[in-house]
Amino acid sequence: VNEHVRLAGGAEFDLIRRLADRYGDAAAGLGDDAGVVPVPPGEQLVASTDVAVEDVHFRSHWLAPAEIGYRAAMAALSDLAAMGAAPRAMLVALTLPERWRTAVDEVADGIALAARETGAPIVGGDVTSGTALALAITVLGSAVAPMRRTGASVGDAVWVTGALGGPGLALAAYAEGRAPDLEHARRFAAPRARIGEGQWLATHGATAAVDISDGLGADLAHLAAASGVRVTVDLDRLPLVAGATPEQAVASGEEYELAVTGPASLDADAFAREFGIPLTRIGTVESGDAGVAGTRLGKPAPIPAGFGHFAR
Ligand SMILES: [Mg+2]
Repeated sequence: VNEHVRLAGGAEFDLIRRLADRYGDAAAGLGDDAGVVPVPPGEQLVASTDVAVEDVHFRSHWLAPAEIGYRAAMAALSDLAAMGAAPRAMLVALTLPERWRTAVDEVADGIALAARETGAPIVGGDVTSGTALALAITVLGSAVAPMRRTGASVGDAVWVTGALGGPGLALAAYAEGRAPDLEHARRFAAPRARIGEGQWLATHGATAAVDISDGLGADLAHLAAASGVRVTVDLDRLPLVAGATPEQAVASGEEYELAVTGPASLDADAFAREFGIPLTRIGTVESGDAGVAGTRLGKPAPIPAGFGHFAR
């Protein structure tokens, strides 16, 4: 195990020590000039970074401080899931306004929980003062053959993990000043990066993958553009959380479920047994202009482009 390096005195290092204490065994080897991350022989390093800014990506009165940390880390880790990569490490850079100096302990707890749950030790980071709370989280993973967005081919089936619509409905409720349904709030506040699921899909023939951050329709449009294919989604087949319509589910962002293309023969029952969530076939990859087309009750249906940052 990577021991932390002893730090000199000073206010900034006191704060780093405090964060390291909160991270506990979720951190490894903090305090050197750089973190050291072993990558198994024969695997490629997979890296992604994600920034979550107060009042741009989240509002602090919608979430507990620990949820802010957990969500930001899971959102970053979700990009490793979409690549079929195994998490190896995480770096956490925090911008902390004065008013967050106490609650940052709980933010750190949330990040540490996500690190523990996914096996991505915190190996470095930075702290700075600033005017808005911002969490910049860099995740490092590895995979023998990372899943790209570019690999979809005509004839593939389109699959999605989990059930969609919860975060969108929670945000709609917050926007209207209502308390969201408990299940929708939980899906918004505590998303799970589909790490094991992504690796399973990568090793069972998935040809391309994307995680759902902007909405299924919007993210499949990225995959379709990258692969140069037409993706058709049957809205009647979408797996829905209770209370969601297919139209809400296809537009709901920050799901952090995975949408993949691959063989029609994927064993959804085996997937559900292993991970406790459904794997649902929702469409097909066709030739034609790159993009996404929907059908609903047998008729063409519009696919919304999704809503990016919700707090505008
Ligand atoms: Mg992504």
